[in-house]
Amino acid sequence: MRKVLVIGGGASGMMAAISAAENGASAEIFEKNEKLGKKLYITGKGRCNVTNACGDPEQFLGHMVHGKNFMYSSFYSFTNTDMMDYLEGLGLRLKTERGQRVYPASDKASDVIRALSGRLSELEVKVHLNTEVSRIMVSDGACTGILLSDGRTVKADAVILAAGGLSYPATGSTGDGYRMAGELGHSVTRLYPSLVSLKSPDAFCRELTGLSLRNISMTLKSGKKKVYSGFGEMLFTHQGISGPLVLTASTLVHKFGSGELKVYIDLKPALDEETLDARILRDFESATNKHIKNALGALLPASIIPVVIKKAGIDPDKYVHDITKEERRVLLHTVKSFEININGTGDFSEAVITQGGAETREIEPSSMESKKVRGLFFAGEVIDIDAETGGYNLQAAWSTGRAAGIAAAEG
Ligand SMILES: Cc1cc2nc3c(=O)[nH]c(=O)nc-3n(C[C@H](O)[C@H](O)[C@H](O)COP(=O)(O)OP(=O)(O)OC[C@H]3O[C@@H](n4cnc5c(N)ncnc54)[C@H](O)[C@@H]3O)c2cc1C
Repeated sequence: MRKVLVIGGGASGMMAAISAAENGASAEIFEKNEKLGKKLYITGKGRCNVTNACGDPEQFLGHMVHGKNFMYSSFYSFTNTDMMDYLEGLGLRLKTERGQRVYPASDKASDVIRALSGRLSELEVKVHLNTEVSRIMVSDGACTGILLSDGRTVKADAVILAAGGLSYPATGSTGDGYRMAGELGHSVTRLYPSLVSLKSPDAFCRELTGLSLRNISMTLKSGKKKVYSGFGEMLFTHQGISGPLVLTASTLVHKFGSGELKVYIDLKPALDEETLDARILRDFESATNKHIKNALGALLPASIIPVVIKKAGIDPDKYVHDITKEERRVLLHTVKSFEININGTGDFSEAVITQGGAETREIEPSSMESKKVRGLFFAGEVIDIDAETGGYNLQAAWSTGRAAGIAAAEG
């Protein structure tokens, strides 16, 4: 019986160990935390968006930001539908919400962990908690086992590196996987926090902290180049901007954003300029004797009005009947194209995912086996793959974990 050791008891590590054991191997997990799946507990705000029910595989893979081509083989071998069937087979009921996001029907991430842990026990996979791996051992180009940080060594036929990335290090993903891969001659790309807030030097962001804008459209530009454009929801924070649209935009910052970054918000995307101008004129007619600062309440959220007026260069105490046509034009432009300067992203402590990792061209995409070290396999976020929000990142962990576990068991 082949002995397979899995480094990391997160999403990909649990799936890898289950898959190795289901395919006849004796599998063991080494997890430095006191429990399995510490990050899984906090996914989807504690509800765990396990995957996305998007029916078209090509469309599904279109949500990968990096590693789409690399993911084809493992995804087609173990798709989102396969994962849903697998969890339901373990007795976990699922439900699908807006955007095809799949959650446990109980809304509890802990139920996903319980289902996977239960399967690990059934398969008699040994789980070593509070056990940190410090190194993977190699001899003559083949993996021979692992060295634990307490000095013990454990021999094996195959090792699966599923130690996660660098994001939310409090959950255990502190970048050990990148170090271990690098020590074995694997190239590791530059690493960036992704699915993360954007920072702005603009003082008004702080003033607007907590303001959430719905049904707006947002464009991120790097110099003159459009990097991202989307419709939805965003939020001002004391450091800049966040919320679903911003997180998605953040995935493209390092890929395309080498120039000066700016975000433009269309606060009224449903109204074209002509219609919006007519709307503003109508609002002005019913408020001719008011100060401009008191005349936009029907159009915009209260807290953003002073910021919009200031950006438009209008005296907030000017009477509406004194507003010139040119001032109205600038006001309209500010509402349609509210500019925010961006000077970086939030850091790894708050990033949902790490962008970058062990280079995919050095890993066999169908088996996840290293092209440099025989018997070494990769799974999950340690690989240079990342996706948008919506369950795609966890599916990448399930699919790569499944492929690695099966291949490691088969040898
Ligand atoms: C707040 C938040 C919410 C998220 N929500 C979602 C969501 O709803 N849907 C989605 O698809 N994705 C979500 N993600 C992303 C998702 O959690 C990751 O894609 C996924 O957990 C990656 O799985 P992994 O197994 O590669 O890494 P991890 O889950 O991070 O597991 C790696 C494990 O390895 C262990 N480890 C590390 N080094 C060692 C070592 N030296 N020795 C022993 N053990 C070690 C760590 O302790 C950890 O338990 C979210 C991420 C965050 C931070």
